[in-house]
Amino acid sequence: MIVTPLTKLLGIRVPVVQGGMQWVGVPQLAAAVSNAGGLGILTALTQPSTDALRQAIRETRKLTSKNFGVNITLLPSINPPDYEGYARAALEEGVRIFETAGNNPGPVVKLLKSHGCIVIHKCTTIRHAKAGERLGVDVLSIDGFECAGHPGEDDIGGLVLLARAAQELSVPYIASGGIADGRGLAAALALGAAGANMGTRFMCTVESPIHQSIKDRIVASTELDTVHIFRTLRNTARVYRNAVSKEVVALERRPGGAKFEELRDLVSGQRGRKVYELGDPDYGIWSAGISVGLIKDCPTCEELLINIEKEAEEVIDGLAKLRVRAKL
Ligand code: NAD
Repeated sequence: MIVTPLTKLLGIRVPVVQGGMQWVGVPQLAAAVSNAGGLGILTALTQPSTDALRQAIRETRKLTSKNFGVNITLLPSINPPDYEGYARAALEEGVRIFETAGNNPGPVVKLLKSHGCIVIHKCTTIRHAKAGERLGVDVLSIDGFECAGHPGEDDIGGLVLLARAAQELSVPYIASGGIADGRGLAAALALGAAGANMGTRFMCTVESPIHQSIKDRIVASTELDTVHIFRTLRNTARVYRNAVSKEVVALERRPGGAKFEELRDLVSGQRGRKVYELGDPDYGIWSAGISVGLIKDCPTCEELLINIEKEAEEVIDGLAKLRVRAKL
């Protein structure tokens, strides 16, 4: 068993947090991750209203007696959501663990901390992490360039970003982006992290709510199968490389670039959602990290976390043996 400040703080067995994925972080997945010993996360904005989020929280409680959290991501959105309303609904339903991400999290973090919540704040730069510390967050989720979704604009890979976190941060942090197995978890711990966040890996589990064809596509993919869109709009997002994302990149690369309005119909989240419903990987934009190249199976969350824990322990033991041999 691996015990870290994260497992102690959250009351979980395995130091793994499921990433808050749009359209994927629903009760059946969050509960399965929590039941398997990690921290499951419901994605607030996946629910069409604050009342629907309340229902999702109640449904999750029926499926697990373990702790789980709610993700609130504050990024540019076609229909800007009532972030504070989602936060208040979750608070009123008794949720006390939150993952926040995105721009200007101050007001939401302040609200959550005033209710005594544990806040895990995701960021892609050390300066944002330090700002998160000043806001009083409990854990930072340090998101390297490998990640799915929004990696920020500085393009720093996890290896350097986490080592910088070890130099600069005083609150516990977890590693996010590019981690899908026990080797990655062990590497994260070696870099000073108290655990790891995994998103793409959990998309490809039995309990993930997406169509089996998309899970099969993830298994068949390599680390070359993602692409960045929105680079020119400074809202970079790593998504699966498909017909639609290639079209978006081509439009952005035209002389003069493309305005968001010209891309809106191609990139809309509602269209991306259909990818998961219909099982057509070319229907719209869908987030994927380069860890797609590491994913070779579609286990249950329980099988996955058992394997991750076992592999991480083997790596840690193997490293300890190296040290003994060097002494001889
Ligand atoms: P959406 O349909 O509102 O927008 C689709 C994409 O376009 C998103 O990447 C969004 O950031 C981007 N976008 C929207 N307006 C923009 C603008 N004016 N300029 C530049 N880019 C713009 O998104 P959605 O799929 O319905 O998701 C809702 C929100 O949740 C978005 O902010 C999205 O970024 C965010 N999100 C959250 C997660 C998560 O894991 N929690 C994952 C993906 C996206």
